[in-house]
Amino acid sequence: DGIGRPGVSTAALLLTAASGGGLVAYADSAAESAPEPSHDAPKKKVLVLGTGWAGTSFLKNLDCSQYEVKVISPRNYFAFTPLLPSVTCGTVEPRSIIEPIRRMFEKKSKDVTFYEAECFKIDASKKTVHCRSAVGTNLDGNGDFMLDYDYLVVALGATVNTFNTPGVLEHCHFLKEVEDAQKIRRSVIDCFEKASLPNISEEEKRKTLHFVVIGGGPTGVEFAAELHDFLVEDLVKLYPAIQEFVKITIIQSGEHILNMFDKRIAAFAELKFQRDGIEVATGFRVVKVSDDLITMKSKSVGEEVSVPYGMAVWSAGIGTRPVIMDFMQQIGQTNRRALATNEWLRVRECEGVYAIGDCATVGQRKIMDDISMVFKMADKDNSGTLTLKEINDVLEDICIRYPQVELYMKSMHMLDIADLIKDAIGDSHKESMVVDIEEFKKALSHVDSQVKSAPATAQVASQQGNYLAECFNKMEKCKEQPEGPLRMTGGSGRHFFRPFRYKHLGQFAPLGGEQAAAELPGDWVSMGHSTQWLWYSVYASKQVSWRTRVLVVSDWTRRFIFGRDSSRI
Ligand code: FAD
Repeated sequence: DGIGRPGVSTAALLLTAASGGGLVAYADSAAESAPEPSHDAPKKKVLVLGTGWAGTSFLKNLDCSQYEVKVISPRNYFAFTPLLPSVTCGTVEPRSIIEPIRRMFEKKSKDVTFYEAECFKIDASKKTVHCRSAVGTNLDGNGDFMLDYDYLVVALGATVNTFNTPGVLEHCHFLKEVEDAQKIRRSVIDCFEKASLPNISEEEKRKTLHFVVIGGGPTGVEFAAELHDFLVEDLVKLYPAIQEFVKITIIQSGEHILNMFDKRIAAFAELKFQRDGIEVATGFRVVKVSDDLITMKSKSVGEEVSVPYGMAVWSAGIGTRPVIMDFMQQIGQTNRRALATNEWLRVRECEGVYAIGDCATVGQRKIMDDISMVFKMADKDNSGTLTLKEINDVLEDICIRYPQVELYMKSMHMLDIADLIKDAIGDSHKESMVVDIEEFKKALSHVDSQVKSAPATAQVASQQGNYLAECFNKMEKCKEQPEGPLRMTGGSGRHFFRPFRYKHLGQFAPLGGEQAAAELPGDWVSMGHSTQWLWYSVYASKQVSWRTRVLVVSDWTRRFIFGRDSSRI
C-alpha cells in the first residue's frame, strides 16, 4: 500500500507494529559500533542449569570470556536424543550419540566451570541455586552446595508425563535418557530369551512377545519402526521357532498417529504399518497398567479392553521436573506445565532468570492482538467483513510469522487455510463469501488457546539457546552505552533485542524398512526410501562433533553389513 519496505510484506510490518514495534529497538546492526566492554569491572556470573539441546547451544554460542560461566548438570555429557530410538535396538551404540561436556567446551575451559550435580532448588529472591552431587563433598558428607548468580539460564528440559495413570511408573519403560534406551534394548532381548525357554505355553509366548508402544507421536512411532526392523532383519533369523508369536501394537488416543505431521504422512505411516503387521489402535486411552495387562478405554464407546503384554514403552507426553514445579510455585506460576517467559525468553516477573528449551513456554499472548490488527487493516472499507479470499491472504501472513499456528492447523489435519476457515465457520468456502470479522475471530480463538507455545523439540531448544547467547554477547555492550548506537535508544520501556521467533525448518519421521517421511518448509512433503537417505545425511551432519559423526556413520555401516547385535549385556 505504498508503505511497505522492499521485500517486507505489509502484513509483516503491521505485525511488527502490533507487537509493540515502536517500543522494540533492535541491536543486531548496532553491535559493531558499540565500544568494547571495560575489562576492569568484575565479570557477571552466568549460571547454566542443564546440558541438553538448549543449554549446550547457549554455551556454544556464548562469548564466555565476557562472563564467569558455571554449568550444572547431573550428566557430564550431551545426548543426541533424535537417535535414542536407534539405541533401543542396537542400530546405533549409546556411546556414539553422546559427547562429553568437558570435551565440547575444551577450548572455553578457562572461562567455563562444569559441576556434575543436580539442582534441587532455585531461590530467585536470593539469586542462589541449591545443588546436590552424588558424591559427598562437604563436611556433612551429603554433597549439597550453593551457587549464586547474576544471570540464571534454566535449561532443565522435561520429564515423562504419566498423567497419573496407575501402574505406568512401575511397569512401563520410558524413552527419555540414554539409560532408558539401554534398558529397553536389554528388555527386548530378555523377552525373546524368556519365550524360547522350554515348558512355556503358546499363550505365555504370545504374551511375552507382545510389545506395546503407548503414544503414537514421533518417538513412539520411530521406536515401533526400529523394533519391527530389529525383529524382521535380525531376531527372526536367531529365534526362528518363536517368530510367529511376535506382535507390535501402538496405542494412540487421537484418531491418527503422527498427528502433528501433515495428514499425508500420517496416512502413509498407517498404511505402511498395516502392511508390516504393526497394529495401530487409535482412539484408545490407556487407563491402567498391571504387570501383565494393559487396560485401555475406547474414547468413542467408552468400553474398556485389557490386553496381555510382555514389554510396554510409554511415550505419551512430557511433564514438569519437580525443581521447575517448585520454582513456578515460588514465583506464582502455578498450574502450568512449563515456565512462562516473555518473548525475550526472560522468566516473567523474574529479574535475571531466563528459561529455554522444553522447560519453558514463550508467551504468545500477542498472537490474537496481531491477528486482530491485521484483520482491521485488511478491512479497508471498515465494513466489519472480509471475503474468504482476503481472510486467506491475511492468514497466510500470520502462518509465516507464527509457525505454531501452521503446526496446529496441521495437527488438526487442516491442509490449508480454507480448511481452517471452513472448520471455524462451518460453512462452504466460496471465495467471494463475506465473513463477519468478529464472528471469525471468535471461531479462531480456539486456535489461540492451542498455539501458545512452540513445540517441545530439539529444534526449538537449540534456536532458543542460540538466540539467548547472541543477546548475552551484546548485553554488556548495550548497557555501557544505554543511549544506544544507531536505531537503538535503550532506556526504560525499551527492549535492546528483537524478540525470539522460532523458525520451523521441517521434521522427519523414520518409518522403518529404510523408509522415512519428511515435512519441509513450504508445505513440501516427501516419503519413501529416498527420504530415508535424506534423513541419514541430515542426522549425520547434525552431529555435535566429528567424533560422534564418525561413530554414528560407522554404526550404520556395521548394521548394514553384520546386522544388529542381539547379546544381552
Ligand atoms: P534436554 O535436552 O532434556 O536437557 C535437559 C538437561 O538438564 C540435561 O542435560 C539434564 O541432564 C539436565 N538436568 C535435568 N535435571 C536437572 C537438574 N535437576 N539439575 C541440573 N540439570 C538437570 N526433537 C527434535 O527436534 N527432533 C527429533 O527428532 C527428536 N527426537 C527425539 C527423540 C526422543 C527419544 C526424545 C526423548 C526426544 C526427541 N526430541 C526431538 C525432543 C528433544 O530431545 C527435546 O525437545 C530437547 O532435548 C529439549 O532440549 P532441552 O535442552 O530443553 O532438554
